[in-house]
Parts: sequence; C-alpha cells; structure tokens
Amino acid sequence: MIKKLDHIAIAVRNIETASKFYTEHLGLSIAKIEEVPTEKVRVAFIQVGDIWIELLEPTAEDSPISKFLDKRGEGLHHLCLQTHDIQESITNLHQHGVRMLDESPRIGAKGTQVAFVHPKANAGVLTELVQYPEGESH
Ligand code: ZN
Repeated sequence: MIKKLDHIAIAVRNIETASKFYTEHLGLSIAKIEEVPTEKVRVAFIQVGDIWIELLEPTAEDSPISKFLDKRGEGLHHLCLQTHDIQESITNLHQHGVRMLDESPRIGAKGTQVAFVHPKANAGVLTELVQYPEGESH
C-alpha cells in the first residue's frame, strides 16, 4: 500500500542557481548536497515539511540527467511514492498491466529498495517507488 509522497526530483543545470528559489526567495535551506558517482549526478536535498525536494544536477555529459535536460530542459524529473511493501506494489501494478522500468526492486540509498514505473503510466511523469528499511522513514 502507498504510504505517502516521499520526494519530488527536479532536473537542473546548476544547483547553486536553481536552489536560490528555495533558499533566498522562500527561506528554506539545503540539508545536504551529495554526489552520486554511479548515477553521474549531484543532488541537493531540501526539506519541505516531511517531503523532500531533490535538485538533480548532472556531473557528466553522459549522465542520464544531461540527456533529460537536452531533451526536455529543466523541470520535473520524477516523483517518488513511499510504499509499505515494494514487492507487493510492483505485483499489484503488474496485475493492472502497468509497465515497470524495474521488474524487481533494487537497492537505493540508505538501505532502501526502489523501483521505477514507466513514465507512460503516469502522464509522462517518471514515478519511483521506495520502501525504507523496517521502522524507518524520512
Ligand atoms: Zn528519487
């Protein structure tokens, strides 16, 4: 079962420029900036209530985020829904004929399990499912 919206990720060319909207204009702060070499991306995490906004900046020409920016420009990259049981959610989506990019969960940050749903299933918006380790959430 889906628990809540976990985060919204926005593809940006430059974190320092894009984050000004949140920091200077809205008075929010960046909790941390992390580089994820395997995804060739730098991520700024901004907390809004119990939801996170992630700004994704490519660190290489061949980063998936570079490709996204070339094709669609800056903007909404994906949203992420937190689920109690990711395997159950995937099975459920399969039963409804929804196409998955990940047929089975893979390991995400901080011991989470994640799986991506094909954007065609959600009006062109890439959708991520996440399950946190037992008893944890953020
Ligand atoms: Zn995400």
